[in-house]
Amino acid sequence: MDLMGSSWRSEFFWLLVIAIAGLSVGKVTGFYFFSLFLCVVAYLIRHIYYINRIAQWLRNGGKIPQSSGIWDEIYYLIYRLRRRNKSRKKRLLAMLERFRTATAALPDATVVLGPGDEIDWFNEAAERLLGLRKGDIGQQIGNLLRNPKFGEFLGGSNYEATVNIPSPVLDKGQLEIRIVSYGGDLRLLIAQDVTRVRFMEKVRSDFVSNVSHELRTPLTVLRGYLETLGDAGDELPMHYQKIIRRMDEQTTRMQRLIDGLLSLTKLETGTLAPSKKVGSAMFVNSVCDEARLLTEGGQILNVYLESSADLLGAESELRSALSNLVLNALKYTQGNGIISVRWRDEAGGAVLEVEDNGPGIAAEHLPRLTERFYRAEPGKRDGNKGIGLGLAIVKHVMTRHEGELKVTSVLGVGSCFSCRFPEKRLLRMQS
Ligand code: ADP
Repeated sequence: MDLMGSSWRSEFFWLLVIAIAGLSVGKVTGFYFFSLFLCVVAYLIRHIYYINRIAQWLRNGGKIPQSSGIWDEIYYLIYRLRRRNKSRKKRLLAMLERFRTATAALPDATVVLGPGDEIDWFNEAAERLLGLRKGDIGQQIGNLLRNPKFGEFLGGSNYEATVNIPSPVLDKGQLEIRIVSYGGDLRLLIAQDVTRVRFMEKVRSDFVSNVSHELRTPLTVLRGYLETLGDAGDELPMHYQKIIRRMDEQTTRMQRLIDGLLSLTKLETGTLAPSKKVGSAMFVNSVCDEARLLTEGGQILNVYLESSADLLGAESELRSALSNLVLNALKYTQGNGIISVRWRDEAGGAVLEVEDNGPGIAAEHLPRLTERFYRAEPGKRDGNKGIGLGLAIVKHVMTRHEGELKVTSVLGVGSCFSCRFPEKRLLRMQS
């Protein structure tokens, strides 16, 4: 403020000096107008000189030029602005450098994609996992990562999903790729090396599958002997008959466990189910007819076929899913149970629903029902007939059919299990 005042004062002082000088020369020579004109020209030249110096200084940098009057202040203000910008630039550069070092150290490949999917920037892990090179900047990522699954994923807009593809560089490497959208039309591609995780999953799945297969043979032998003993039931003492019945129950349970585990390992491949036509009316009716033969408690099983759409999927898997739901409904409802199996259209697809008026499931169990071996109140309702694998199988079948399983339930009122299929898994008659 002070500087501003003094520079203006000094400027006025100079103006005054020049005006007095002009007037004095005018008085001496008698050419007032001419001498004043000369003084104004001299004043103008001074300004042009300082403007020129400022231009030179801005162009070439260097020390702040010496000046006087108002130019002193202008030079100082520009100098201060430049200094501030310089330190801001320094701070930004340091921040950028820190960010670059951090992203470079990330174990996951990170690629910044422009609006046309061209590569703007990538980190070191992207070189290692995706095989990108500095010269690839500006190239379309789809041309470098040539994989149909990835191409479809990149073209789509479902960024909550991920896609698994083999690494183009690592031998037997598996990558899980996700895309994060940010800042309008910019996208970030993140690729994680999941080779080890997939390997461990395979080891676990193979182990379960092998153990189940190995257990199958001795179990079949045991069941055979038990059957023979059971046939001779009446000839055996009561005490032994009871033991044999128990053993038969337990081996049957074990057989179901093994069958369930084997079905699960088959469904866990992480691939989609084939898209073969499955006549929905026929398959729903046939599963329900089979289930009716098993009803012991006199429950009523109604079928409502409201949609004419057929399904595109694997019939054996769909059968297994529906029969698990229907058998559960029969198992958990009592004598006056009413079960409705409904096939209906819904916005964006169709739903296969199994509803019952059974005991219902408490809200706290709902999120965990599809975990393998999870049973809500085991033994209390199902007389220990349950093994906790049925809903896990249904969930896997639905995932393989790009659909989902939703469970709603009210304690004491009943439960509803809805399998939602997307439109792409339906076959509709053209009208
Ligand atoms: P389980 O062999 O025990 O039936 P599931 O995976 O099929 O295994 O079901 C998991 C749990 O969900 C069951 O233990 C049961 O508590 C509950 N459940 C499933 N279906 C029903 C139903 N229709 N009514 C009430 N509870 C159910």
